[in-house]
Amino acid sequence: MTLGVPADIYLDANATTRVLPQAAEDAKAAMEELFGNPSSSHITGIRARQILERTRSLVRSVLGAEQGQIIFTSGATEAIQIGVFSTLIQVREQRSQTSANGRLLLYGATEHKAVPQSLLHWNRTLDIGNRVMEIPVDRTGMLDLGFLREHAASADMICTMAVNNETGVVHDLMEIEHTVRTCNEQVCWMVDCVQAVGKLRLNLSATTVDYAQMSGHKIHAPKGIGVLYVSENAHLTPLFAGGGQESGARSGTENLPGVAALAAVLRCLDDETDLTFKDLQTLVSYRDQIVESLKKALPSIVFNTPLDKAVPTTINFSVKGFSSKEVMDLFDAAGIRVSSGSACGSALRGSYVLDAMGLPRWRSEGAIRVSFGLTSQDDEISAACSRIEETGKALREACLIPAEEPATAPESPVDGLIQFKYGSMCSWVLIDSKTSRCIVIDPCEELSDRIENLIRCQSCDVLAVVDTHLHVDHDSCREKLVGNLDDLCNRSFRSTDPLGWPDSSSGTAVLGDGRQAEYFVFSSDMVFARTELPGHTTDGWAYFVGKLKDNNCLKPQDIRFAFTGDTLLIGGIGRTDFPSSSPKALYESLQRLPCIVADSTLICPAHDYTHGWSTTLETERRLNKFLARVLDPVMTMPLEQFLHEKRAIDSEIDNENSEELICGLICSHTNENSSIDISPEQCKEFFADHRDSRIIDVRESHEFKFHQDWSVLGLDKPPENVPLTRFSDFLQRLLVTNESSQNRDIIFICRSGNRSGKAADALRRVGVENSWHIAGGIALGGRPNSVSADSVDIEYEI
Ligand code: PLP
Repeated sequence: MTLGVPADIYLDANATTRVLPQAAEDAKAAMEELFGNPSSSHITGIRARQILERTRSLVRSVLGAEQGQIIFTSGATEAIQIGVFSTLIQVREQRSQTSANGRLLLYGATEHKAVPQSLLHWNRTLDIGNRVMEIPVDRTGMLDLGFLREHAASADMICTMAVNNETGVVHDLMEIEHTVRTCNEQVCWMVDCVQAVGKLRLNLSATTVDYAQMSGHKIHAPKGIGVLYVSENAHLTPLFAGGGQESGARSGTENLPGVAALAAVLRCLDDETDLTFKDLQTLVSYRDQIVESLKKALPSIVFNTPLDKAVPTTINFSVKGFSSKEVMDLFDAAGIRVSSGSACGSALRGSYVLDAMGLPRWRSEGAIRVSFGLTSQDDEISAACSRIEETGKALREACLIPAEEPATAPESPVDGLIQFKYGSMCSWVLIDSKTSRCIVIDPCEELSDRIENLIRCQSCDVLAVVDTHLHVDHDSCREKLVGNLDDLCNRSFRSTDPLGWPDSSSGTAVLGDGRQAEYFVFSSDMVFARTELPGHTTDGWAYFVGKLKDNNCLKPQDIRFAFTGDTLLIGGIGRTDFPSSSPKALYESLQRLPCIVADSTLICPAHDYTHGWSTTLETERRLNKFLARVLDPVMTMPLEQFLHEKRAIDSEIDNENSEELICGLICSHTNENSSIDISPEQCKEFFADHRDSRIIDVRESHEFKFHQDWSVLGLDKPPENVPLTRFSDFLQRLLVTNESSQNRDIIFICRSGNRSGKAADALRRVGVENSWHIAGGIALGGRPNSVSADSVDIEYEI
């Protein structure tokens, strides 16, 4: 695939928008020429006041609010505070007549967080004592009007929204109003109109809405300017007191540049002949084009809102088997800026909006929001569509989604160990490209499509799909996978074993501890062997990949990979407080390990809680004092002592506050020295000075291939690409060949510095000290004109 360096295509307009050139000019004029203070009585002030009042009229026109107050604020969040604060102050004043008993503050379950958080905050701060309660929504995101009917009479405030920011769902305000007012004529009703302005015609004066908000930066005005509408009948208590600006409703000198810019935008919205913003029909046609391309690129896509119930500018979708972060990383690599529907600090945290809609977890965890601006252009949308289709092609080439035509021979054969992760769970696929044979170890349900796609795309002969034990914390998809891959499963390796071991093995090997182990031949020189390794659960087995030597011996130094399930974890050992556990058996299993595997054998666990990917016995012994004592050849910890201490260790596992059931107590090891802090400007010089180092990009191959112009980073050829799914394979080769001893620094890079940082830390953890990473990533240094948001660290709502 040949692609040029992608320029940004911004499809995240619900987060914020580019300021209209005219708005920027007017803001500049308000700073340089019309810079007066609207409160001054001289002519410079009067000119400024004129801008303020003209903008207020425009707001009235766009919101359809001839009556009521229009107050300029710093944004919608502040405007929401004022609405909530004013209502609750009034509630408090009237408290003498009513009691808090059973009184409610209701809000739609999919509201922007600014709403429930304000309700909670002011309810607590003002000591109101009401119950803050969610109004449930249905699977399309529509409010449960039955619930609203049932509770509206007990409510002091009801907060709903006109258009949802994640899904674009349009709420029927007339219907909501009818429900609310039939039950409660007095209740304060606030409607967040932030995502509706410019997309829907609003007529607030014709409604009984008490408070409504809009925000400049969502409609091509700058950040820092917002509007609160307060109806004639609604109560208003200023949040800020001071100079009495905004008729005393909001003191503080007005943000006149922001107001002037907002006016420029509102003029375009208000004038039906103005062509700055696209009309509805055009926006719908843009949406349709994007939807078609998404379907072409990602055939298993599901849309999280019926498109006819949403504004055309927002598309929310998920792709089975892909987390939001994975899709965002891919789109970002292709130069398309979208956002996840969720804060994606963790792969397992989903979108609260989609959760409230009752959609399955995978849809919530994989939600992507594409939102384009009102000023979008035909060529921009076409370019976005071709890029989207390119991402689909890249995923097909990486075997992550099924090929359109079943492949005869894989385009890019994969060889070695592949590690897929879902949260902390690890699933492993071993492929021998020469014989096209593969083995799957510990496949978890969430990764089944991905494993199946890889195996199909590589046309592998599946020898075995095995589990190390019956997992307590998650489902294995072993049987499902065997069923789905029936046509590729090798008939001579049929299995009736509960963990998938083939019924007929090739022979018996002798392990380093003298015990016999069944094996079958995997590749021309490697066998796949197993031995019982109980403890974490009594049905535990370990699998080994290694070379048989004289007399069928599988010696420790000849074992490349050991799949030990949850016996030995990265930074801990498996817990033994499950009903299916045996601490005594774990003690014996641990003591056997050093006789079976070598210090450099890569231990591939069933979980990775710390982004270590995999580990070695030497590393664990060095970092885990308890394990070191258990394995001490001279002063071995006695069994009794082990049982006693192990019980205490397991009791420390925090079952309550973890997102998933943890399979062992983990001590994370932190490295603080792997980070190279250079400014984007220094990037080029840095790489030019480090030509002797191994520069390794850890992005997945489908992301990596989009980055073509490496010269902007001072590199005369592309760096090595070691995707994190191949990191364990890389680690094993590095440890065995001991390439680190050649004194070549290893410098990991990625888009934002997050993944490369983890890779460098993981290498250091296993003793490769000369590994580094570029803090902050190469997004800024690599492409000077593009500032790429790091989705990993963003935790707030936009
Ligand atoms: N309400 C909705 C629906 C939003 O989308 C946002 C911003 O994301 C806000 C409120 C908060 O707006 P502001 O950034 O102006 O405070």
